[in-house]
Amino acid sequence: MTAKILILPGDGIGPEIIAEAAKVLECLRQEHGLDVTLDYGLLGGGAVDALGEPYPDQTRRQAHEADAILLGAVGGPKWEALDRPLRAEHGLLLIRADLGVFANLRPAILYPQLTAASTLKPEVVAGLDILIVRELTGDIYFGQPRGIRTLDSGEREGFNTMIYRESEIKRIARVGFEAARKRQRKLCSVDKANALEVSELWRDVVTRVAKDYPDVALSHLYVDNAAMQLVRAPKQFDVIVTGSLFGDILSDCAAMLTGSIGMLPSASLDANGKGLYEPIHGSAPDIAGKGMANPLATILSAAMLLRYSLKAPEQAERIERAVGRVLDQGLRTLDIMANGMTPVGTQAMGDAVVAAL
Ligand code: NAD
Repeated sequence: MTAKILILPGDGIGPEIIAEAAKVLECLRQEHGLDVTLDYGLLGGGAVDALGEPYPDQTRRQAHEADAILLGAVGGPKWEALDRPLRAEHGLLLIRADLGVFANLRPAILYPQLTAASTLKPEVVAGLDILIVRELTGDIYFGQPRGIRTLDSGEREGFNTMIYRESEIKRIARVGFEAARKRQRKLCSVDKANALEVSELWRDVVTRVAKDYPDVALSHLYVDNAAMQLVRAPKQFDVIVTGSLFGDILSDCAAMLTGSIGMLPSASLDANGKGLYEPIHGSAPDIAGKGMANPLATILSAAMLLRYSLKAPEQAERIERAVGRVLDQGLRTLDIMANGMTPVGTQAMGDAVVAAL
């Protein structure tokens, strides 16, 4: 059956990087038998401008009809001053919650060709291959109550609620254990159980789930130590499972170990494997429209989409091999360039991947 892919280019560099990923999918469709249709929709600032809200009904319908969704990035200064429900990034929270994509998989892999692009010493990062499994639809980003209130004294107070139910912890822990089973069978659960009750529950539930996975070695780290270990000796990790707030921060840190945020894809999956796929970076307003953005994170997100939602691992590998070949050829966008190299633009990078396919 023909699979439906919904493409949401978004804002800033979103349309530029998505155009290259779409080229790659189109090439697989025309030349390698990938049976898909590509549909386009609005999310984020562009949706606010066109339809008055960041996740309009039209996009909601398209998202539910699709088998998988590929997203560029959303946000930008133009929408930052709007009320929170109208901000571009709010569209992202809405679509994630609406689709119930609770499991965010963020691989941080250092391509051997890019060892020099990392700010860490080559011996610390060479061969790095970590998977961060971040819970995505709970925690402090969604917890109620939240707000800013004025106290009797006239002083303002901001507050949010960090909250996890047992069932939410259980299901993300299972994703972590299952992922570890397919890799080095090591799972590190990250929390702040020495200070937070929500983390105490997290640790207890993860430990209980571990009984079903005796073949996976489980360890626990407090988030502050985990941040330190990620920079000190990142290769000690295989799979990390953590909540949304800690995962948000740790995965950006892990991203930098690999040299550039422009290289890293992500998948956000629901209970049935339907997913929202996107690069982990944002809309990079500072370089939008300049044709400089690295499209590889988005192209690699398309590969994850083929692997996890369309169950087409051979097509995913095709893309990943093509990206490897392009890096072997010495092609680099500005963000992953080493001294003495000439950078290529977004389109040239996408064209090179298509040629390598
Ligand atoms: P960012 O990830 O957009 O940019 C951080 C830095 O990385 C910038 O210097 C940028 O130029 C660079 N960069 C990012 N992607 C790149 C790429 N593909 N190639 C080369 N360089 C790249 O983060 P930010 O500056 O904190 O946020 C900018 C906007 O994006 C904000 O509106 C923010 O809310 C939004 N945002 C959206 C998402 C998303 O859509 N998933 C995620 C994070 C931030």
